[in-house]
Amino acid sequence: MAEKTIFKKIIDKEIPADIIYEDELCLAFKDLNPQAPVHILVIPKKEIRSLGTIEAEDQTLLGHLLLVIRKLAEDLKLSEGFRTVANTGKDGGQTVDHLHFHLLGQRPLDWPPG
Ligand code: 5GP
Repeated sequence: MAEKTIFKKIIDKEIPADIIYEDELCLAFKDLNPQAPVHILVIPKKEIRSLGTIEAEDQTLLGHLLLVIRKLAEDLKLSEGFRTVANTGKDGGQTVDHLHFHLLGQRPLDWPPG
């Protein structure tokens, strides 16, 4: 059996995280190394490696994650806007092999990324 990712350990409450939202399908917690005043990671509890491995059966779950992001943005009063990023694979800059959406906000964000 493959070793658990750090995010799976957070889901299983084996290591601590600053969790700001949880339901039966997902978890949202503060990024350890924030790149903006608001930097939250939204992850499914299901072990999905990345956007590169999602399946048709994940459609409802993925929609749920986006609705949670919208709710968090509202709760956190990101009325000026926010950015949602899912780094995928090596070239995408993914460092944790458990699907996660970054939710960044409360400052103007540059584009394009590096
Ligand atoms: P990626 O580079 O894969 O898109 O994003 C992984 C993110 O997870 C990074 O922004 C990194 O700071 C964050 N991260 C890595 N390990 C931990 C951890 O143990 N706890 C928390 N809260 N965030 C983590």
